[in-house]
Amino acid sequence: MENVIILGTGCAGFTAGIYTARANLNPLILEGKQPGGQLTTTSEVENFPGFPKGVDGFELMDNLRKQALRFGARVENAFIDRVDFSGEVKVLHCGDKLFEAKVVIIATGAAPRLLGIPGEQEMYGGKGVTTCATCDGAFYRDMDVVVIGGGDSACEEALFLTRFCSKVTLIHRRNELRASKIMAERTLAHEKIEAIWDSAVEEILPGDDGKVQAIRVRNLNDGTTSEVFCKGVFIAIGHLPNTQPFEGILDLDENKYLIPSIGSMVKTKIPGVFVAGDCADHVYRQAITAAGMGCQSAIEAERWLAESS
Ligand code: NAP
Repeated sequence: MENVIILGTGCAGFTAGIYTARANLNPLILEGKQPGGQLTTTSEVENFPGFPKGVDGFELMDNLRKQALRFGARVENAFIDRVDFSGEVKVLHCGDKLFEAKVVIIATGAAPRLLGIPGEQEMYGGKGVTTCATCDGAFYRDMDVVVIGGGDSACEEALFLTRFCSKVTLIHRRNELRASKIMAERTLAHEKIEAIWDSAVEEILPGDDGKVQAIRVRNLNDGTTSEVFCKGVFIAIGHLPNTQPFEGILDLDENKYLIPSIGSMVKTKIPGVFVAGDCADHVYRQAITAAGMGCQSAIEAERWLAESS
């Protein structure tokens, strides 16, 4: 039986790995379907502390992995599809394979929802298509960009982008925003933001350099199409936390994010089961906050093991 099993190899998972390994807990980190997590799809990270010149997202995750391995963490590829936390020993299933641990740290992350339209994958991460204004907004200084979506995230992204961009076009599939009233009003009142209603983005079009040059938009009322020229496409249509195996076992909110216990960011209602990173955080969703939660969960795990042994 393992002392600690960590689910996920993003910022939260590897940070938990570094801390639990340095505490001599010999953690096993299980890697799922996106090794290295969301940061591996980002070409440049400028806001992770300690890198004054920025750092490539893939390189940062590779360094975190090496740092965890250096202190004895082990990494194994296994996508956990079912868990049993009813007994003292936590049981994790990967198909027919079974893992057992005293402590489990869930750092399974979240995936941004994408549109599934032509051009999206081809230009994702570095060529103009992104899902994070906080991460990438500064690359679009004095440029025209579009934000797709009508929720609080879309409004927040659009407002944030007004700090850098010359114009922000918000494209929504209905004729009113889903966002909270205050966010919606603030967004629509901003002089740099223009909304295009009742419209779906059908295709993202590259320029000669292979980067975003425009999008093709269909008006859902009359079926006409038009092109909107832009250098950046910010998709803000929600996230899907990777929490399916924990449904009915741990507390999830209506959007399927894990809810930590009151008074803690990382404890759950089951002793010895902790959460970290984007699977339990729909508010901040940053590499550094995920890493911070990874650290907290590792320290809590260490304390819990000491108290229960
Ligand atoms: P959300 O509220 O689910 O909004 C998603 C938006 O994307 C909706 O407007 C939806 O359109 C649109 N959409 C979904 N699928 C689409 C598709 N395939 N094509 C085009 N548009 C699509 O997601 P969110 O904005 O990420 O917010 C998630 C949660 O976090 C919410 O509870 C939100 O209040 C909260 N949040 C709060 C803050 C804050 O308080 N500052 C900031 C961010 C998020 P429809 O409207 O037609 O469904």
